[in-house]
Amino acid sequence: MLIVMKADATEREIDDVLSVINELGFRAHAMPGANRTAIGITGNPGSIDPTRFENLPGVAEAIRVTKPYKLITLDLRPEKTVVRVGDAAIGGEELAIIAGPCAIESRAQAFAIAETVRRSGVRFFRGGAYKPRTSPYAFQGLGEEGLKILADVREAYGLKIVTEALDEAGVDMVERYGDMIQLGARNMQNFSLLKRAGRSHLPVLLKRGLSATLDEWLLAAEYVMAEGNYNVVLCERGIRTFAQHTRNTLDLAAIPAVRRISHLPVIVDPSHGTGKNYMVTPLARAGVAVGADGLIVEVHDQPERALSDGAQALTLDQYEALVNEVRAIYEVIAPAHVG
Ligand code: PEP
Ligand code: MN
Repeated sequence: MLIVMKADATEREIDDVLSVINELGFRAHAMPGANRTAIGITGNPGSIDPTRFENLPGVAEAIRVTKPYKLITLDLRPEKTVVRVGDAAIGGEELAIIAGPCAIESRAQAFAIAETVRRSGVRFFRGGAYKPRTSPYAFQGLGEEGLKILADVREAYGLKIVTEALDEAGVDMVERYGDMIQLGARNMQNFSLLKRAGRSHLPVLLKRGLSATLDEWLLAAEYVMAEGNYNVVLCERGIRTFAQHTRNTLDLAAIPAVRRISHLPVIVDPSHGTGKNYMVTPLARAGVAVGADGLIVEVHDQPERALSDGAQALTLDQYEALVNEVRAIYEVIAPAHVG
């Protein structure tokens, strides 16, 4: 059930509707918008009779939801969500870029890269402290030591820290040191982890699963939101196909497909989406051109020495060139982001 309040509904009328929903034992999700507030209802085992709400003061409409999602949808919130991360944002007027190494390897490495990221004017720094590696013998990340380095990067450069949590205990750790929780492709359907992130005060970067359909991905976002965390950013990072010329197939059609259904910001990861250094910049350009709200890119000061994902890491010079190029493209298509 979706309740649309009248444009002139008062705070009091909205609160009364929320109370009725809570008294019924359901969960209310109020989404204030530019023109009206809408309220999504979750936790109801069956359908709810709309007449329960239709006659309450301030209610314009009570609509039965027939789609599988209730909260990610434009029906609930017709205008785009801007996810705020401190004084930075994703989905706002500025193209959001998250840049940094695949993994934090040392203080010297993180600072060398962060210095360039800061100089480029980009607001977000990435780097894994807990790495989901295919082989158990590959570098697994520095753990808490890596998070401490990330916290120092934030302190030194004012960058917002985006870092992955592999499990529920990892969310506790990211909450202590970071600014945004990355949930990786391999964990997109780890439902207990999604629920834990949904109870966090930090925004969530939700990567698309290795072979997830659009619906599965959006329903994963729905899991986070159903717990009350509405600050979710979707990330297209490529899916597994028969193609062998890339690590994954970057599905850029997912960007307009998400836009048609959801108010959530969506960004592109051309690094994991291609796996190859020479393809990252062209696909980053394309991601912005197709309407993404931002990019997440892997950068390394010495890619040939990287402990993970060196083949797809941009050098510092390549990264600086990429930022200039994608900003120019974004300027051209920015009007498409308004409204
Ligand atoms: C990463 O960002 O380094 C990563 C492991 O990404 P994904 O979950 O998309 O593979
Ligand atoms: Mn990586």
